[in-house]
Amino acid sequence: MPFSEGAFESTMPAALFSLRGRRALITGAGQGIGLMLARGLGMAGAEVVLNDKEPARLDQAVAMLRREGLAVEGCVFDVTDEKTIAIGLASLGRGEFEVGGGIDILINNAGIHQRAPLELMSTAAWQAVLDVNLTSAFLVTRGVVAGMLQRGSGKIINICSLNSEISRPTIANYAAAKGGLKMLTRAMAVEWGGRNVQTNGIAPGYMRTEMTDVLTVDPVWERLICARTPAGRWGEPRELIGAAVFLASRGADFVNGQIITVDGGLLAAL
Ligand code: NAP
Repeated sequence: MPFSEGAFESTMPAALFSLRGRRALITGAGQGIGLMLARGLGMAGAEVVLNDKEPARLDQAVAMLRREGLAVEGCVFDVTDEKTIAIGLASLGRGEFEVGGGIDILINNAGIHQRAPLELMSTAAWQAVLDVNLTSAFLVTRGVVAGMLQRGSGKIINICSLNSEISRPTIANYAAAKGGLKMLTRAMAVEWGGRNVQTNGIAPGYMRTEMTDVLTVDPVWERLICARTPAGRWGEPRELIGAAVFLASRGADFVNGQIITVDGGLLAAL
């Protein structure tokens, strides 16, 4: 229900950005950005389901967040495999929240890189990156959104990239996937906006994670990113929490089809 004059208390920032009573699913959350967003949403009050395809890593992540006092659980599935997605979501459903795993907030975060010069790129590397970074968001969202539509509310957040806008050599597969994810975000926003399900994206700049290890250990890249970014440094995954909590919250009920770039200003600079 949109805010009304009579509901002033619910527009106070603490209530506006609270995720209490909401259940979130974050894909690829065994480490990196997904794990940090699980912590952030959990601290904002959400019950968080962490997904990854690696059970041991997922168990560790869940145990760590539980020790921090957060309400989290793990759900193993491969985001490219519709059968295991369906089994995973079915295992989450309960009571009135049977459909789509009872998820109120979905963050499509799982992603991979397989770098190669485009003229030498294998079909397998092209397809794998498209599958994990783009098709997965279609598959997982399709599994989850039925419940959101049934309940008449939901938030979907797709983790896009600066490469949704710009590219560089050796990452054509990744740029094509992330560009596609930006448009899938808009398509979802248009498709379900009339039924109170908002879909937005976050485009992180260069963040220190396992995925970018290959760049951070290279002094040339390390310097290049710092010089290219107006903030003069790499970002930390925790710096994405603010955008994620905002987009997942009632504060963003009228925000739909947008990509929030969190990059220290890189995309604005020549
Ligand atoms: P990361 O540290 O590599 O974490 C990604 C997680 O996703 C890993 O745990 C990975 O498991 C998991 N995953 C991969 N394929 C999966 C699958 N098929 N099913 C389920 N889980 C799967 O990467 P990150 O840096 O946190 O990146 C998270 C997201 O942010 C990605 O979409 C990435 O493209 C995006 N992003 C990152 C940056 C950055 O600077 N780090 C910038 C822009 C956008 P495995 O390790 O076993 O594959």
